[in-house]
Amino acid sequence: IVRLDGVPMTQDGEYTGMLFLLQEVTEIRRLEKMRSEFVANVSHELKTPVAAVKGFAETLLGGVEDEKTARSFLQIIHDENERLNRLIGDILELSKIESKRSPLECSPVHLATFFGSVFDTMSKVAEKKNIRLNSQIPDELFMEADEDKLRQIFLNLLSNAVSYTGEGGSVKVTAAPDSNPDGSENVIFTVSDTGMGIPKKDLPRIFERFYRVDKARSRSSGGTGLGLSIVKHLVELHHGTISVESDLGIGTSFIIRLPLLQEESD
Ligand code: ADP
Repeated sequence: IVRLDGVPMTQDGEYTGMLFLLQEVTEIRRLEKMRSEFVANVSHELKTPVAAVKGFAETLLGGVEDEKTARSFLQIIHDENERLNRLIGDILELSKIESKRSPLECSPVHLATFFGSVFDTMSKVAEKKNIRLNSQIPDELFMEADEDKLRQIFLNLLSNAVSYTGEGGSVKVTAAPDSNPDGSENVIFTVSDTGMGIPKKDLPRIFERFYRVDKARSRSSGGTGLGLSIVKHLVELHHGTISVESDLGIGTSFIIRLPLLQEESD
């Protein structure tokens, strides 16, 4: 017999009342639904490149006469394998951030030096499309941040900007200090491009996992559909906010506001 505290009982141990337990399950259900949708999406996303690798490898094994066709099949196998690699990396990264196994490790960051090295990483891809990378970062601006995570935020935003901007376009990053009414200080960053833009109806959803405006376009540029979702998580981990403005055919700007200093508890 389990004795339930608070339920009236006679001296010989019989219950004379009932205890009702009401629990709000809406949030639990919502999270369960989100998790099972995520698992379904992940399986679908992983199956696509695996099926492509299998199909093209089998065709090659069956024998392809012409060398040029064989090479093009090998190239597809290589590219799909790379995508699979990126997908696995992004899924692991997202799960690490979401399960809070990736705490902030902050140090002072000199933003002009930081963006110099981020631009070095991006310069090859930008050059290939003849896209100009510009920046406007005050030389005296320092902030407290987890540098690796900050790098990932801007590499994701910049690689999207380059992917979704046509040949000869330009991409610009700015940073400027700003203060809140309560006296606390922020840095406001913008990452703007002169690319194809995002339709208004899609704007509220682009930070969702696996959401893409145009599946074919994202796949052909090697996207995983997880980049912006990772960016949003990393910005929020720094207690910041991110928003987006876009005009179709004109370009897109992401606006990121991060605190200049992180609280001790981090
Ligand atoms: P992906 O790997 O598909 O790029 P993201 O999560 O990084 O996934 O972005 C989600 C979607 O938002 C993209 O598929 C693309 O349609 C759109 N998008 C993101 N950045 C830009 C941009 N700078 N210009 C136009 N569209 C963009």
